[in-house]
This record gives sequence, C-alpha cells and structure tokens, in this order.
Amino acid sequence: MATRQSPDFEAWETLMLQAARQGGAGVLGSLLTHWQAQAPRESVLCQCGQRMSSRGRRGKGLLTTLGPIPFARSGYECKQCHRRRFPDDERLDIVNTTYSPGVRRLMARAGSQTQFEQAAQDLLCYAGLRVEAREIERVAEEVGRQVEQWLGAEQDQILQAGVSASPKLERGAKFYVSFDGTGVPIRRSELVGRQGKQADGSARTRETKLGCVFTQVGLDKEGYPQRDPDSTTYVGAIESSTLFGWRIYAEALRRGLEQAQTVIVLTDGQRYNHTIAQTHFSDAVHIVDLFHAYEHLTVVAQLRWGQEAKAPKAWRVLLEAGDISRLVRKAGRQLPASAKGRKAMLKQLHYFENNAWQMRYAEFREKKFFVGSGVVEAGCRTVIGARLKQSGMRWSVRGANAIIALRCCILSGRFEDFWAHLPARPPFYLVNPPPCGRAMFAQAFKRMHEKAKRCGRRTGQSPALPPPAGKALWRGC
Ligand SMILES: [Zn+2]
Repeated sequence: MATRQSPDFEAWETLMLQAARQGGAGVLGSLLTHWQAQAPRESVLCQCGQRMSSRGRRGKGLLTTLGPIPFARSGYECKQCHRRRFPDDERLDIVNTTYSPGVRRLMARAGSQTQFEQAAQDLLCYAGLRVEAREIERVAEEVGRQVEQWLGAEQDQILQAGVSASPKLERGAKFYVSFDGTGVPIRRSELVGRQGKQADGSARTRETKLGCVFTQVGLDKEGYPQRDPDSTTYVGAIESSTLFGWRIYAEALRRGLEQAQTVIVLTDGQRYNHTIAQTHFSDAVHIVDLFHAYEHLTVVAQLRWGQEAKAPKAWRVLLEAGDISRLVRKAGRQLPASAKGRKAMLKQLHYFENNAWQMRYAEFREKKFFVGSGVVEAGCRTVIGARLKQSGMRWSVRGANAIIALRCCILSGRFEDFWAHLPARPPFYLVNPPPCGRAMFAQAFKRMHEKAKRCGRRTGQSPALPPPAGKALWRGC
C-alpha cells in the first residue's frame, strides 16, 4: 500500500513563521512611511523656546518584533543652542534607541528573568530576535528605572492623596504585611568603607529589603491558615529602613490596608522591624516568625551544650505556648561558665525578651494566624535570590535596584499595568500639538484600509493580502 511521505512539519512551521515576519516587517515599514506622509506639517520648538529648523531626513535601523525595518525621519536643530530633535522618534517612543517599544518590552522581561547572556539566547529562540546580552542589560535596567519612577510617583500620590480606587477585600480576610532582608553581591568599588560580615570586617553585599502583602481567607483541610492564591504583591530595594518603611506602607495602602479588619505584620524580629511596625502599622498584630525563634533557641542550646545540641523539649513547649518569660528564666539558669559564652547567650536571651509580646504563639494559632514568615522568605529566594544572587554575579546598586523594581513589578502581576501607563512625552514643544502616536497610527491605518476596500470593490479583488516585504502598501490603488 502506498504511503504518503511524512512532511517535515517543523521545517514548514519555521519557514512560514519567517515569511510571516518578513511580510509583517514590510507592512509595518510601509505603515510608518504612510503615517509620516499623512502627518500635518508643524513648527518644532526647542526647549529654549526657539523655533527649530529642519535639517533633512536621517535614517536609522529599527528593530521591531517582526524584524529590522528601515526608518527615516526629519531632524530639527536649534540655531541658538544647537539642540537636536527628531519629533517622529518622540511620538513613536523610540528616542535614542533603535529598539521598538515591543522589542524593549521583550528585552526587559527576558533580562529580568535570567542572566543577560541566557536572555539573549531565549529571545533568539522564542522571538527570532538577535540582540546582544549587554544591550538586554542596558534596556532591562532602563525599563527597571522607569518602573521605579512609576512606582515612586504612585507611592507619593497614595501617601499624599490616598488611594484612588480602593481595592475590594473579601469579608473576614486577614491582611498580612511581611518583610525581610537579604544580601545582594555588590561590586567592590561600591562597597569601599562599608562594614560587613567578611572575616576582615569588609562587606561583599548590600542588604536588599523585600516586603510582601497578601491576604488569607480560609483554612486548609488540616485547619491551618491558607494564603489566597495570587494575592501576594512585592516591593523591594536596597535602601534605608526608613525609606523602605514608607514603601511597604504605601503598598499596603494600595492593597486595602484601610479596609482590612485584621492586619498582621510578620517579621523576623530585627530592631528595624519593630520601628516600621510601630510607625506605620501601629494597630496591627505583630508576629515574630516562629522558625526564627526556633533557630535562636537552638543557638542557645548550642552555646550551652556544644555544636550538636538541640533545644530541650521543655523549652520548645514553652516557646510554642508563647510563655517567653518562663522560657527565658529556664534557659537563663544554664548560662555557660566562660565570659564569652555567657555574653553570647545573654544576647540570644535578649532577643526573646525584646520580642516576647510578638511571640504569643498559642494565642496566634488559636486565632488561625500565620506564625511563620515563609511567604516573604520564599519571596527573597524567588524575587531576589533566583536572579541577583547567582554565582559570579556582582551588581552596581543602581543596576540591582532597577532589576529588583522590574522583578517586583512582574511578579506582582503589574508589568502590563506599568507598560500601559508609560508616561507619554509632553507635546509642549510643538506649536501644533498632534494627537498621540498611537491614535495617529490607528487613523492612518484606517484610512489605508478604507482606501484598499474602495479599491477592492472597484476591481472586484480581495485587498486582504499584504504585499511582499519592502514594497509600498497597495501601490496600485
Ligand atoms: Zn534651543
């Protein structure tokens, strides 16, 4: 029986995709040319107020998600101060860049996910885009800084004028605010003079503070509190605890802090945690992570009985019960003989004394609260660690903060939101301000489409097929 030969389906796919991209790039190029031809003539002003004079058209290569397209636009120069402007670049959001907004969005996303070299390979594989790793680094950090600006403006707005659209919280939802710190490796030149944990007292890292806000409504089958899926949003930066306090407070307000009936602050009990909790969340229940408390208890046992020791059962029972004063008295009877050991142990016991009110674990469990800061610790690993703490990495503070902002934005599910609100350039410099690029583009496309439809009606042919790459659109019409 004769069998049909199997096709190389994947080769067909690849070929068709290439053809579609090339055709699409041709259409896009023609659309741009058409849009430019249709644009009304206008006088262009310089920042200094002078009218700028045309210096003719300049071409530049433009990489779009469909591939490279040729692009030329009019340049203007100020006779007074010699500033230059390309108004079309400004309208299309491609000032000082050869990457289209679509490509920049992909570069930012890819660069935020993996190392820049890997991101370059991913873009080539998934989107057929050939871009260099250091270009991805540059673009991703630039977008990260834009994210930070956008978030900063939103934070100011919230802190000064309140939340514009108050989010809906489910009835009885428990509202959690949790934060923690994690070290990010920083370039040596930016660490000069900073004290750190290295053997010689120098620093290798800077502390990144990460905060998250999430809600809890129900309990799981075993009766343990359960986090609402997809309710976690993140904020973070390498910054002082004061600035970070405002940052996490603004995020909590945005998420509905003022509507929440029960607010819980979960931390690991460092001193600045108390300051932030008292300053911004004074009505909240502050809980110190139970697992950190266990770690400190183990250290106490090790100071007394050596490296292999574990905390005695009686201590653990007292900790679980939240009876910290008895725990401290009991453990305090076991002070080591050496002065050094005694000092170290007293330091550990102070940790319990200072956090006793935040360690009422029996009461918290009774109320079905989370008693562990697992969410923010997992956040430190996924948001920060997975991207910024891989071996061999050294960041500049500026670069790290840009990528942290970008990752927090993406992992909080807000990146599309950010991209949609990218601030448009103010058209104050044009004498006749035109409508924004997108609207003009839509108009130009509509006009072309209508023209093609009329043409199709006359000749009885379908106008739907785009012309091959590089040719002008509907030239015969
Ligand atoms: Zn000027």
